[in-house]
Amino acid sequence: MTRAEGLAGALQALEARLVTACAAAGRDRADVTLVAVSKTRPVADVLALRELGVRDFGENRAQEAKEKARAVPDVRWHFVGSLQTNKARSVASYAAAVHSVDRAALVDPLAAGAGRRGSALDVFVQVSLDDDPRRGGAAVADVPALADAVAGAADLRLLGLMAVAPQEAEPAAAFGLLHELAVRLRADHPQARWISAGMTGDLEQALAAGATHVRVGTALFGRREPVLR
Ligand SMILES: *Cc1c(COP(=O)(O)O)cnc(C)c1O
Repeated sequence: MTRAEGLAGALQALEARLVTACAAAGRDRADVTLVAVSKTRPVADVLALRELGVRDFGENRAQEAKEKARAVPDVRWHFVGSLQTNKARSVASYAAAVHSVDRAALVDPLAAGAGRRGSALDVFVQVSLDDDPRRGGAAVADVPALADAVAGAADLRLLGLMAVAPQEAEPAAAFGLLHELAVRLRADHPQARWISAGMTGDLEQALAAGATHVRVGTALFGRREPVLR
């Protein structure tokens, strides 16, 4: 079996999972965006999935994201990792969306980068569901002010909230809290109705809680080698 055949099989299996999970949640698969998280994977894998119709790819390191976006410009690149302030402007030059905006210091450089390229950048505010700083994400109490800052910035479009389920928690409970926060956000920002949540291990629970963007790596590409950087 070639790598391309392997990826095709994995994509088919994942699609079946998404369709089943959406049906179980009374939702339409067409309302969910699959972001293929291609971090650590070669450009050839991205090209193979693009050939199969995947149009959204996610990366979590600025340097790697930039290189892949340059190599494959005709797909939508989603930045999903923790973002250094001094990389934000560059990320905004090629990304369609940034899922990991967790502090106000990112707003100006992202807006500057988006303004320079001349098209709006989609932004999710990342929220920490357990206030553990290691996973990233704004503290729950800081979300409203951060969302206001994003919504008020020219060239940034506030899409909604993003979260990674804490390892120790039940994903269903964590995503239930995320859903509650998303409802609260929408009271202030009616247009911010998207939720980025769900990975290989917990996409069913995320879809049950209203996720509109699932970020999936392992189920498509296989296990990553542990990377020491
Ligand atoms: C790596 C990563 C994913 C994908 O995780 P898998 O478990 O491999 O599906 C999703 N979101 C973020 C923020 C990631 O860093």
